Amino acid sequence: MRLRVSIGVGLAAVVALAGCGSDPVPKSGTGKADTAAQTKQTRAAKLAAAAKVKANELGQVPVLMFHRVIRNPTTTDDRTPEQFRADLERLARDGYVPVTAAEFVTGKMDIPAGTHPVVLTFDDSSPSQVTLDEVGVPKADTAVAILREVAARHPGFRPVATFYVTRDMFGKTTPEEQAQTLLWLKQNGFDIGNHTRDHVNLRGKSKQEVEEQIGSIAQQIGALAYVKPVTLALPYGNQPSHKEWAARGKLGNVSYDHSGVFLAGYTPAASPFSRSFDPLGIPRIRAMDKKGDCAQFCSTAWLDWLKNNPDMRYTSDGDVTTVAFPKFKDPFLRTTYKTRALPY
Ligand SMILES: [Zn+2]
Repeated sequence: MRLRVSIGVGLAAVVALAGCGSDPVPKSGTGKADTAAQTKQTRAAKLAAAAKVKANELGQVPVLMFHRVIRNPTTTDDRTPEQFRADLERLARDGYVPVTAAEFVTGKMDIPAGTHPVVLTFDDSSPSQVTLDEVGVPKADTAVAILREVAARHPGFRPVATFYVTRDMFGKTTPEEQAQTLLWLKQNGFDIGNHTRDHVNLRGKSKQEVEEQIGSIAQQIGALAYVKPVTLALPYGNQPSHKEWAARGKLGNVSYDHSGVFLAGYTPAASPFSRSFDPLGIPRIRAMDKKGDCAQFCSTAWLDWLKNNPDMRYTSDGDVTTVAFPKFKDPFLRTTYKTRALPY
C-alpha cells in the first residue's frame, strides 16, 4: 500500500516537471513547481540518509534453516534451546532484524536504517517449534517462545519467522487443534509456508504427483487458517524436473502460486532486488557452528563472513519504498526495480 502511494507521488513529480511549459498556471499559490522542489528536497534527504548508513539493498541476505529445537539433539539439524537462544542473541548483536520469507521474496523488508534483514525458517512443523499450553500461550523453550523472549530483550528485533508445514502439523492430529496452532501463528505475525504434504523428494516425480503433494497441503492450510502460502521450501532442497512446478500448479479447484521457492543449502541469498535473485531456487543456510562440514557453509561461518565483507551484505536505508545502494553497484539492479532505485 505504502509502496503504491510513494510511486504515485514520484510519478506526479516527474509529470509536473515535464509538463511545466504547456500546463495551465495553477490557481492556488502552492503550485506544481513548489511540489517538485519539495520532492527534490525529499529525494536529496533520502540519498543523504542512505549514504550515511552505507545502505546496500543489493547485498546478500542470510536465510537460516532450522528444524527442531530440543533438549537432547539426535541429528545435526537439531538445536538445543540454549543454542537457539545464542543464535538469536548473536543476530541481534550483529544488527540483524528478522523478516519473513514472504516479506523477503516480495521485497517488503521494513526494517530500520543501518540494520540487516535475516530470514528465520523452520522446516517440518514439529511440536518443538510451537506448542501452546492450556491457555494458548507458547510453552517455554519452544522456538516461538525463545524468539519472543529474545525480542523482548532487544527492542527492534522483530519476533517473526516462517514455518514450513507438512501434514505433521506441529504434532496436532485433529483439525480443531491444527487450526488453533496455525491461527495462533498467523495472528502473532508469523508466516506459514508450504513444505509438501508428505515431505517427499520431488526430484523425478510427475507433474501430477508434484501438484498433489503441494496442492493438498495448501488446501489444508487454507481451510484451517485462511492462509495462502507465499513461499515453499523444497524437502531435501530437491527441485522437480521442471522447477516451475514447485512455484505454480493446481489441484482440483485450489491453485498455488509461490513468489519464492527455497532450497536447503548452503550460501546467503541474493537480494530480491538483484539480478542474481532466482525466485525458483533461493539458497538457505543450515543453523550450525563452525564444525566438520559446517566449517565454511553453515550459519556461524557465513555470519562471520558477512560481518567481514560489509559490501556483500544487505543493509537497509530504513525506507521500504526505495532500493538504496552505492551508485557503482547499478549494474546489479534488477530492471523491474528501476523505478524504486535510490543510487547514492
Ligand atoms: Zn524438511
